[in-house]
Amino acid sequence: MRRALSVASSFPEDVPVGAVVFDSSGTELAAAGNEREATGDPTAHAEILALRRAASRTGSWRLEDCTLVVTLEPCTMCAGALVLARIGTLVFGAWEPKTGAAGSLWDVVRDRRLNHRPEVYSGVLEAECADLMRGFFRR
Ligand SMILES: [Zn+2]
Repeated sequence: MRRALSVASSFPEDVPVGAVVFDSSGTELAAAGNEREATGDPTAHAEILALRRAASRTGSWRLEDCTLVVTLEPCTMCAGALVLARIGTLVFGAWEPKTGAAGSLWDVVRDRRLNHRPEVYSGVLEAECADLMRGFFRR
């Protein structure tokens, strides 16, 4: 999570969210911050970029043994993408009550109708992750 926090502020004009994908041995495969403002791409959330980069590095869209660590509870798009990537474990920091899809507003990652459900750990370094968001929106 510390690594995710460090990449969260890569693009100062973007909402500070950082995501990192690790393989089963704990090796970092990819990391990304939000690049929506930087690239003008509405889908350029940190999680999507980290998943794409990890898949391109491993040469497979299946990231079954991998862990996605992200500073903020994923939205519906990102939760859907990590289920499609068969991510083994999701770890997130702060809860996002307005758009969260990992337990807040929706629970896409634990929906029994889907064929894959990652293991989920929430609230990791929650205070630091939430502070980063609060600091951004105060500016
Ligand atoms: Zn998202």
